[in-house]
Amino acid sequence: MAENKKLGWGLIGASDIAKTRMIEAINAQPDSSVVAVMSSSGERAKRYAEENGIPRAYSSVDALLGDSAVDVVYVSTTNERHKLEVLLAAAHGKHVLCEKPLALTIPDAREMAEACRQRKVILGTNHHLRNALTHRTIRRLIKEGAIGKPLAARVFHAVYLPVRLQGWRLEKLDAGGGVILDITVHDADSLHFALDDDAEEVVALSGRQGLAQAGLEDAVMGAIRFKSGVLAQFHDAFTIKHTRTGFEVHGSDGSLIGEDVMTQEPRGQVYLQRDDKREEIDLGPQENLYFHQVRHFNDAAKGNGIPFATAEDGIRSLAVATAVLESARTGQRIAVRY
Ligand code: NDP
Repeated sequence: MAENKKLGWGLIGASDIAKTRMIEAINAQPDSSVVAVMSSSGERAKRYAEENGIPRAYSSVDALLGDSAVDVVYVSTTNERHKLEVLLAAAHGKHVLCEKPLALTIPDAREMAEACRQRKVILGTNHHLRNALTHRTIRRLIKEGAIGKPLAARVFHAVYLPVRLQGWRLEKLDAGGGVILDITVHDADSLHFALDDDAEEVVALSGRQGLAQAGLEDAVMGAIRFKSGVLAQFHDAFTIKHTRTGFEVHGSDGSLIGEDVMTQEPRGQVYLQRDDKREEIDLGPQENLYFHQVRHFNDAAKGNGIPFATAEDGIRSLAVATAVLESARTGQRIAVRY
């Protein structure tokens, strides 16, 4: 590809997340733009393209992948489709940013990563939270020793699922619905990112609190033990309307408290607490999380560095989420198998 040619992104899936976040993020970069969209319905693809200023619309993955202007593919279909679409994109030699969860099982996610490696294309996972300045600051401060040795973490990621998203996530087991594959997978990535540590085992209880059907869960609480000995607890839900999210890490010499930080918006505060003294960290302007993600992905696609969340990161977070699912369904404590 010519050095200064813009990267053309093709969207597989005429999704809400592409419409509300990713199209803007891709088009905001000086070196990329969305050139095509694919939907399983030709009519929807055409309408979506018109509404979102996308030059071309396709009704099959092969047709989109056959478009020579597409250098990078963004996969944001329902979760059971990710595997096949990533494998097809790799076979066509396209770089891929895939939504989380990468797949429904670890062997599938590994197959996707291996196919991309063999075809020498980049595979990234769209874990947006680690792109947030709040999360990057928590990670940096832990690395700098601000809280001494991390001992415990708490993730508050219980939200109310917006009405416009109350479809397959609540009804379709085979599409990878449910709060664990939707939200716990993000907690797993955020914890790994902040602590630079791998989860070893999990225990969880899930519930159905009025929204989820068909054997799916809309609430879960659990605990994770990390290799270093850190214990983390998490609460994820689609059913909680009246609270804020949070992410905390407690160490031997201090605590880092992130308030309102498990969100898609560039907002939230980080505090460093020692004894009973709490100091707010001055973060300065916070960049849009998705802009940060796409900027890094474009660089990686052009041979500079790696995606901000890699395929391995997606495999790691999926391993934790599938262990949580298994624990919640069996009542057992489950070792995380990567
Ligand atoms: P949507 O339900 O909006 O879209 C998923 C798929 O459903 C689309 O690709 C589309 O398939 C089909 N679809 C969408 N709208 C309609 C409709 N009106 N009628 C028929 N089919 C429709 O999903 P989301 O955008 O909420 O999620 C997509 C993926 O992105 C998931 O993997 C999810 O986990 C992830 N996600 C990630 C977020 C993040 O911040 N990282 C946030 C939100 C979601 P087609 O176009 O082929 O017809």
